[in-house]
Amino acid sequence: MIIAIDGPAAAGKGTLALQLADHFDLALLDTGLIYRAVGMNLVRVGADLCDTNAAIQAAQNLTSGDLKALDLRTDIAANAASKISAIPKVRTTLIDFQRSFAENPPARKSGSILDGRDIGTVVCPNANVKLFITARPEVRAKRRYLELRERGLDAIYGRVLVEMKERDARDSARTVSPLVPAKDAFLLDTSDISVNEVFSMALDFVNKNH
Ligand code: C5P
Repeated sequence: MIIAIDGPAAAGKGTLALQLADHFDLALLDTGLIYRAVGMNLVRVGADLCDTNAAIQAAQNLTSGDLKALDLRTDIAANAASKISAIPKVRTTLIDFQRSFAENPPARKSGSILDGRDIGTVVCPNANVKLFITARPEVRAKRRYLELRERGLDAIYGRVLVEMKERDARDSARTVSPLVPAKDAFLLDTSDISVNEVFSMALDFVNKNH
């Protein structure tokens, strides 16, 4: 079984992916980490994020060990990821890594689950189940703001909201693999429902459709 989860930042994809991976015993790949790792490999050496050739090279040189770097959950990484992910050749270079993960889960697992922006539309168009998780920008910014504060980081709600809207705009407007729901995706708006309700609605859909 392959489950594809897409949606904008802080919509609840990651939490839901973890719950479903646990429930169905699936190998889980947070594909945002791949783009964050490529972005941070450039930031760390002071490269210009608009340097297309440097970004393509960083994508070609990516190793699975890079996904374990400790600075990938920062906003610097998120913004770097959203810039380099708009470069078409960066995306095509990273597709094989994602497909290979989706199609070759470890033997002890029952399948795989990937979350990102274009999993149901581009990376795994034949996924058994596709979910598109969204929420209002203000709700997502509040969640991200509280998460940053909880981690002891300085955060200003207004700035988190502005950056999130900028990232949404870049992800949705890019010409390659823009953030759009697959035609056959189950749309779930998590703005006004609890984490458990989201899980139970998604579980119900997966059970009826795979
Ligand atoms: O999901 P996360 O917030 O970690 O993603 C960081 C950025 O990486 C996104 O804003 C998006 O630009 C990019 N991304 C992407 N395609 C994916 C996953 C992430 O373009 N499948």
